Amino acid sequence: MKYALVTGGSRGIGRAVCLRLAEMGYPMLINYHANAAAAELTKSLVEENGGRAELLPFNVADGKEADLRLTAWLENHPDDSVAVLVNNAGVSADSLMIFMQNGQWHSVVDTTLNGFFYVTRRLLKDMLTNRWGRIINVASLSGLKGLPGQVNYSAAKAALIGASKALAQEIGARNVTVNVVAPGFIATDMVKGLDEKTLKTMIPVGRFGKPEEVADLVGFLASEKAAYITGEVISINGGLF
Ligand code: NAP
Repeated sequence: MKYALVTGGSRGIGRAVCLRLAEMGYPMLINYHANAAAAELTKSLVEENGGRAELLPFNVADGKEADLRLTAWLENHPDDSVAVLVNNAGVSADSLMIFMQNGQWHSVVDTTLNGFFYVTRRLLKDMLTNRWGRIINVASLSGLKGLPGQVNYSAAKAALIGASKALAQEIGARNVTVNVVAPGFIATDMVKGLDEKTLKTMIPVGRFGKPEEVADLVGFLASEKAAYITGEVISINGGLF
């Protein structure tokens, strides 16, 4: 069977992407780090909609753990593979650079950039052998324009964009596409605590986006119809640049 794996599938955008890809017929692998209850809820929601899902918890920022967990899963599923990978796991740890601690830098870069590297490298071989795959990386408006207070986050997301463009050129000939979605403000736990009332006055469509709207875009990029799109960054931000 051909599975879809979503890192950070327990909450927010990742949960909506799990539901969307399950609707498209993919059995889901739901990765998360710490929040087992939220991951269980994503799994139940997928199943209530008639889909299939398994939980696959590991810390994407830990190369050894990611490799061990993915290898164990692949060994236990000799006839299955991961055909769609959504690198969505991410954290923010905002601070002006002058006050930024090493831990804030590393947690953000390790999760977004190293996480992409560890998980994608492990799953690439099957996609190349099967001559079909979809890799969709969740970056951010912050990685395109840079945002003050987010030097760590902007750096990690910009690097993810560069890595995606390079990888797309390495593997396009095998029908494996690599694309990036770059959301603006999306209503999830990550933006709780922000001043939504003030921020939405800056957004041309006048509101935060919904996780389901990002999931629809990811679903399209995962589909056969998107076969000729690769190395692309698609913004989904209500017109905010
Ligand atoms: P969220 O609601 O905070 O969810 C974050 C998800 O990432 C959770 O499932 C979390 O798992 C998982 N995660 C965090 N660190 C992880 C790790 N080391 N290993 C595995 N999983 C990990 O965030 P969100 O808003 O949905 O964000 C999803 C992605 O969109 C992120 O990459 C974020 O940077 C990006 N994004 C978000 C926005 C926005 O406005 N919300 C805008 C632009 C880009 P646990 O539940 O186990 O903690």
